[in-house]
Amino acid sequence: MPELPEVETVCLALSQILINSKVININILRKDLRWKIKKKIKSDLEEDFFKKPYRRGKYILIPTLRENILLIHLGMSGQIKIRENKNHLSKHDHFRMIIKTSEKKIFSVIYNDPRRFGFIDLFNKKDIKNHFLLKNIGVEPLGENFTIEYIQKRICKRSACIKNILMDQSIIAGIGNIYASEILFKAKINPLRSVNGLNQNDLQQIINATKYILKNSISVGGTSIRNHLQPDGKLGYFAQKLQVYGKTKQKCSECNNLITSMIIGGRSTFFCNTCQK
Ligand SMILES: [Zn+2]
Repeated sequence: MPELPEVETVCLALSQILINSKVININILRKDLRWKIKKKIKSDLEEDFFKKPYRRGKYILIPTLRENILLIHLGMSGQIKIRENKNHLSKHDHFRMIIKTSEKKIFSVIYNDPRRFGFIDLFNKKDIKNHFLLKNIGVEPLGENFTIEYIQKRICKRSACIKNILMDQSIIAGIGNIYASEILFKAKINPLRSVNGLNQNDLQQIINATKYILKNSISVGGTSIRNHLQPDGKLGYFAQKLQVYGKTKQKCSECNNLITSMIIGGRSTFFCNTCQK
């Protein structure tokens, strides 16, 4: 499932072709994603021009010259494909935009999603604060507002375990199951620790580890972007060097003990019992 670094990578790749591009044609091939795609997206978007895409949590937001915003959420299995051939379509392609770049090149930008948990929406820029998917999103972990004071304010007296707090999108935006395990390994904090038992030093370790892991992953994603323009390139996924996620019974890179896995909050969680206290 794409998390913040993957979504950021998709945004960067889209920026390379979408800025100042004109929307020539929209095809909604299948409208029943997680929520229904509005039919009116077609008429509202065609002939409009895109501005610079950006990310909020796990959402890709692409503003347009007519002051609308195109929102794309990749869900569990969504991916963006950029194709030079406008006739190219394949299984699970649900939404296609044909665009003309400022250099007059034609591209197809295709949303493909086998499990259809993703979503595409278009709304007026002035409604962004009230959009049902965006209004309750927590702090951006790479922004300057992600501080000890912020976490303390948001978790006051809660006994939830730190892993679930890291993944709570209304508190911190963009972190999912994979990066939560990786962040806590880097911070040397056991995922089962209750948040109200964490001291200032622990919280600072978690903040530092979060920024480190996410920034590192974004830079790995960045180097993968050029592959996405290849015929089989799939935007939204790239090979990440993971330390604990999916590594049950493999040796910990720090202490050589075996990585443990456990279900926490219904999700597989991976950690080193020795390194993470
Ligand atoms: Zn270890």
